[in-house]
Amino acid sequence: MAHISPAVQAAAQDMVALRRDLHRHPELGFQETRTAGIVAERLRALGYTVRTGLGKTGVTGFLAGGKPGKTVLLRADIDALPIQEEADVAWKSQNPGRMHACGHDAHTAMGLAAAEILAKEASSLSGNLCFVFQPAEELLIGAEAMLRDGALEGVKPDAAFAVHVMNRWPVGTVAICEGAAMTSADKLIVTVTGRGGHGANPHNAIDPIVAAAQIITALQTLVSRETHPLQAAVLSITMLKAGTAFNIIPDTVEMTGTLRCFDADLREKLLAALRRTVEGVAAALRCTATVRNEFLTPAVVNDSSLTTLARSVGAEIVGSDRVLTVEPLTGSDDVAYFWQKAPGCYAFIGSAKPEWSSAPAGHNAKFDIDESAMAIGAEFLVRAARQAWQTA
Ligand SMILES: [Zn+2]
Ligand SMILES: [Zn+2]
Repeated sequence: MAHISPAVQAAAQDMVALRRDLHRHPELGFQETRTAGIVAERLRALGYTVRTGLGKTGVTGFLAGGKPGKTVLLRADIDALPIQEEADVAWKSQNPGRMHACGHDAHTAMGLAAAEILAKEASSLSGNLCFVFQPAEELLIGAEAMLRDGALEGVKPDAAFAVHVMNRWPVGTVAICEGAAMTSADKLIVTVTGRGGHGANPHNAIDPIVAAAQIITALQTLVSRETHPLQAAVLSITMLKAGTAFNIIPDTVEMTGTLRCFDADLREKLLAALRRTVEGVAAALRCTATVRNEFLTPAVVNDSSLTTLARSVGAEIVGSDRVLTVEPLTGSDDVAYFWQKAPGCYAFIGSAKPEWSSAPAGHNAKFDIDESAMAIGAEFLVRAARQAWQTA
């Protein structure tokens, strides 16, 4: 049994009710107006200095403690996904094609519960609180948008934490990575240009489809042949757009994909290799090609002393044998931009129900969580903040 403090126990019912309300009304990245409104209203009522409209729909809440001290940043993401919910729950999404399938409804509710509990202690605290409710995490562009709008202007955080519910691990566990936790993410757009023509006269055309096929195949060697076997990277081509009819060779093919790395130098090397391969293979097949990359987010790397702190906080709540040290995830989270402003630690809160033989993964239309994980997550945020004030 997890050790949940009376304060979190008292907040648990409201936290679950709020999560269900947010779950019923999911909003996509940069459209989270209802969600942001609820967050801002609650933070104001708790005495926080609230700023809204940061990165379109982001909200921050700042609270100075009674005595000067360190500033702890706690971040929750608030956006949903473009998925039609198939989970059989009473609080099913009421917005067609929109779903909280990544648990950000739970993160928002946990963040607000922690904000409430910590606000009650504020007058006796030596330190400050900065809550960040971030939009558009799924697009990996919300954090930077908030920072561009000056979300941390006048705030110098000393330590930062975030939690994510994760069905990969059972409820009652806390999983933390040492060092690298999540990858950097680039969006890739490759355009291959040939010369269109009749499908029956390929010799009079320059076929970009065949070139694109060769390029996709050649790109598979970047990770398998050019990356050190003990370094990790992912290169996936995920969208192909070309052609209009069965008898027309098109002029161009556009492919979209993603590159994920833990190491910034490896990322640079692979981007260069990507250009070389795309342009070289295209040229060999008489086409031209361009590569455009959008750097979405750096890798999430956990600070080592805050990781130690997070592990001990996790152990206080669920017991040391249920604090898991886990391999880094190949997913990404633009919380990395906040980690550039302060050392941070990201913790995964196990949320699979014990009775599930196979838990629905995040981003699945049947995604759901064991809501008792939320008390563990809120407890983690509260305790991590208190600890960081003393030691950060
Ligand atoms: Zn997600
Ligand atoms: Zn998520």
